[in-house]
Amino acid sequence: MKLVRWGDPGDEEPGLVDADGRIRDLSAKVADIGRATLGRESLAILKALDPAVLPLAPGGARLGPCVADVRHFIAVGLNYKDHAEEGGDPLPAEPILFNKAPSSIVGPNDDIVIPKGSTQTDWEVELAIVIGEPGLYLDESDALDIVAGYCICHDVSERHFQTERGPTWMKGKGCPTFGPLGPWLVTPDEIPDVQDLKMTLDVNGERMQSGTTAQMIFGVRFVVAYISQFMKLEPGDVITTGTPAGVGQGKKPPRYLKPGDRVHLAVERLGEQRQRVVAWQG
Ligand code: ZN
Repeated sequence: MKLVRWGDPGDEEPGLVDADGRIRDLSAKVADIGRATLGRESLAILKALDPAVLPLAPGGARLGPCVADVRHFIAVGLNYKDHAEEGGDPLPAEPILFNKAPSSIVGPNDDIVIPKGSTQTDWEVELAIVIGEPGLYLDESDALDIVAGYCICHDVSERHFQTERGPTWMKGKGCPTFGPLGPWLVTPDEIPDVQDLKMTLDVNGERMQSGTTAQMIFGVRFVVAYISQFMKLEPGDVITTGTPAGVGQGKKPPRYLKPGDRVHLAVERLGEQRQRVVAWQG
């Protein structure tokens, strides 16, 4: 099942994608796609619906972030060997965790705004995990039981803010529009192996990143169990799991986003994102 949120920013309606790729309106069934609807029982009710009896959403509707009201937006740093190496960083012995501000979350095709004072806005294609059930002190063997689904996260990053303004990385990770999520929240039954998904990112049609979730140092199951040792995961939380090589900072010379650039992200089975980069106006 592919769940979506469609409509104007801040006023999205819930929907699901039917077999023909059209969005069906779920607003008569659930209030939103968020913490109240991502649990096992709620997802099972939605999955039992016949999409054909649901009204169609208006064609061309904007897509919002595929999860509403995210409270914890957690990211894993340097989780791909080739990405750690391109930055000259040692491989982490345990997952590096940082926070992205939930206020950075936008729709999958919304504009990316270069923040005020930014000189090094960079791209990162990632697989994100959406949590559906509470989880604390989980064993790896139980970790996937609390996962509602997966989506693409563009972990947009400002490298100067991230690494040259003192700890922590969150300074360069939580700016407005730095967290596009979607297009869909895809439930695990549609993904035969979450550690075998190809992922790409292009800037202005040029391939910058090409990887697969098979290259993660710490896989999805491990990451969910690991984070639950330090905090209680809750429904609607999002964990983005790191990026493969090919970020702008790793290019020689480094290359960063500028107004007018077009970014295209794709993760196998999770869809695509397309963003335009614009200057901060203030
Ligand atoms: Zn990242």
